[in-house]
Amino acid sequence: MSIIDQERLAAIALTPADLSRYSRQLMLPEVNADGQRRIRVARVLCIGAGGLGSPSALYLAAAGIGTLGLVDADRVDASNLQRQILYGTDDVGKSKLEKAGARLRQLNPDVQIVLHEARLTSANAVEIIADYDVVIDGSDNFPTRYLSNDVCVFARKPNIYGSVFRFEGQASVFAPHLGGPCYRCLFPEPPPPGAAPSCAEAGVLGVLPGIIGLIQATEALKLIIGAGETLAGRLLHFDALKMKFREFNLRRDPHCPVCGDQPTIFEPIDYEQFCAGPPAADWFAAPEGVPTISVRDLKAKIDNKEALTLIDVREPFEYEIARIEGSRLIPLGELESHLSELPKTGTLVLQCHSGSRSEHASNILREAGFENAVNLEGGIDAWSVEIDPAVPRY
Ligand SMILES: [Zn+2]
Repeated sequence: MSIIDQERLAAIALTPADLSRYSRQLMLPEVNADGQRRIRVARVLCIGAGGLGSPSALYLAAAGIGTLGLVDADRVDASNLQRQILYGTDDVGKSKLEKAGARLRQLNPDVQIVLHEARLTSANAVEIIADYDVVIDGSDNFPTRYLSNDVCVFARKPNIYGSVFRFEGQASVFAPHLGGPCYRCLFPEPPPPGAAPSCAEAGVLGVLPGIIGLIQATEALKLIIGAGETLAGRLLHFDALKMKFREFNLRRDPHCPVCGDQPTIFEPIDYEQFCAGPPAADWFAAPEGVPTISVRDLKAKIDNKEALTLIDVREPFEYEIARIEGSRLIPLGELESHLSELPKTGTLVLQCHSGSRSEHASNILREAGFENAVNLEGGIDAWSVEIDPAVPRY
């Protein structure tokens, strides 16, 4: 089903020039004149006019999207040109949006280009996103990603997620109102400041955001014309070195603070301040009463061959991406049905992505009489940073 209401099509008629320009997609029965009219009235917001936003915006403009909004506050840097194909060498030092707007208008003057020359913040996100039917999240930082997710959940708009890292990328459609989870169902809290690498730190093969950005644009077009099966409820993972796509089923978390049955977050949070606040050590600190173990102490215990069981309480798709050798996967939601299989002697280490789900798991086990349960501080992310850089971060 299309996310564009039938009533909005009434005012739109395709001209002979339209029929010619868009003929190659109009001839597809899944699109036809009706779908092209939906594309013409659709309003798509690209958050970020960078590596993901460039290909998305170019192809959506080419497809005849009625209104294309762009949010970005940056200037073009020479190091952007390897992947941000909206810009050329002459644009270095200039406003990204000014240049992107000019390029997109030149590509297709029928598209109304709306430039939001700002960073998406808790102060402007609700107002900006309210004007659009669907959001393409092409952001490269966690505060924006959480903001985009939360505001889209509040406003019941699909948030098309994409991210790239070195030779890998992933995409999904977060739209709990259409089925499946939101981003927070998978990652309830942002990582601490400095813990997640950006493209500048980690590097990315230039074609990667091209592929992932176009998957995002494809999903936007499918939502608009109402054809096919979207990535709602699925995470698509792409590995360029192996040239493999893998797919993971995702479920909505009924305890999600934004889209759960009893949500606790109802308005955008100023994540910038939030993230810049407590230092990493405090962020990971468990409340009193839950014993913790550091990744260094865990490594020492493994090296000394001490009696130890390592339980990974993340979701299967995360385990596929990265794992600590020797760990056993029991997703948090299934932990209570596996209690009889767990040892009450030796150290029972609970581990997740950054330490918060495993803290919850440690509490469950302690309440069930496992006095040997301890929480791994900082989770697999800290393990990757401090112990084993071969374990991928995500
Ligand atoms: Zn959620």
